[in-house]
Amino acid sequence: MGCQQTEMAATFPTLMDARALDDADPFPHRRHLFALPEDIIYLDGNSLGPLPAQTVARLEMTVNEEWGRSLIRSWNDHDWIGAPARVGNKIATLIGAQPGEVIVADSTSVNLYKILSALVRSQPTRSEIVTEKGNFPTDHHIAETIADMLGKRLVSVDAQDIPSAIGTQTAAAILCHVHYRTGARHDLGALTSSARQSGAPIIWDLSHSVGAVPLNLNADGAEYAVGCGYKYLNGGPGAPAFLYVARDLLPHLSSPISGWMGHTNPFAFEHSYRPASGIERFLAGTPPIISLMGLESGIDLMLQVDQDALFEKAQRLFSFFADLMAARCPEFRLISPAMPESRGSQIAFAHAQAAAIMSALISDGVVGDHRAPDVLRFGLTPLYLRFQDIWYAVDRLAAIMAAGTWQLPEHARIRRVT
Ligand SMILES: *Cc1c(COP(=O)(O)O)cnc(C)c1O
Repeated sequence: MGCQQTEMAATFPTLMDARALDDADPFPHRRHLFALPEDIIYLDGNSLGPLPAQTVARLEMTVNEEWGRSLIRSWNDHDWIGAPARVGNKIATLIGAQPGEVIVADSTSVNLYKILSALVRSQPTRSEIVTEKGNFPTDHHIAETIADMLGKRLVSVDAQDIPSAIGTQTAAAILCHVHYRTGARHDLGALTSSARQSGAPIIWDLSHSVGAVPLNLNADGAEYAVGCGYKYLNGGPGAPAFLYVARDLLPHLSSPISGWMGHTNPFAFEHSYRPASGIERFLAGTPPIISLMGLESGIDLMLQVDQDALFEKAQRLFSFFADLMAARCPEFRLISPAMPESRGSQIAFAHAQAAAIMSALISDGVVGDHRAPDVLRFGLTPLYLRFQDIWYAVDRLAAIMAAGTWQLPEHARIRRVT
């Protein structure tokens, strides 16, 4: 079906070439640190990171020792109570923020809700909330509801119109740093400083950039951010998310979910709410300790690697993938930006039969995902991906296209999660 077979003149890298690249790699893969099945090529770490081997022991300890034996004493004895701030501080290191500027809590959606409503309420004279069209849906849904609740106008614009849409009427903008479909990345520093000229705050959603591209929130002047724990941070399914507020701005914001964990002294059991002075004011209820320990373990692993070197390797994996696809599967259209500084750590292609093709690919042990209507998406995660994995992935895709196996009825089934 248009894809070139391996038997043809090898104008593209061979498996031996791929293995040679792996052997000589200045950023060798750390596949052994993950519990990845041997027979799977995992290209979906941008959606659910795999299980780090050390997390198994960490969770066993949390469950058997801390919960099982120490029981409620673990809140003090194993510092469960300090975990949201402790893990937040580790994320701060990763994203170029200071201790006390990041807290782990809730999901990304809930954190967006908390920050956005706090910001909009703190600037009653500004009438608009700005978002990007085609953003990750939850970001747009939350913005819609808050605009409706607080009587603001929601302004959704295309990426190139964002700078002109942000102005003196903007109460807040919600922007995804890296786009979940294409991998296109905004210039966080440039957009932040141009927005700040009109006093407009941006909430950066870092879900597709934390643990994937280098981040320097303080240096870039970023004021507010949220991000996801179960994608590139390998925190586990449904791992809690995080929230960042630049230190000086915190006193002006109050969480709309004034739960007891955000109180300045939860165990004083005071009748009236008094927010914590620090970032803890954005906690609401009791933290999910087991998930939090899984997240901490994933972050501990991520903190061992230099984020610049990690992203540099992701760029090389991207080029290798793009070149192989252009040579072997030219009917797939690359929709990720060509320039490394304009993209995150994934590669995406458009094809009218994307859903069935991805289903066939997953059956063959190459796990990426499909985003409706026509996108095939592959996460590039240098911690555990090798050049040879990319080579096999494209080779299997070429074979599927040549044999037409994607047309089998089983691949026409629409699954609940894609
Ligand atoms: C994955 C993702 C989320 C996830 O939100 P949850 O509340 O954790 O389900 C939010 N925003 C973006 C941009 C994402 O990529």
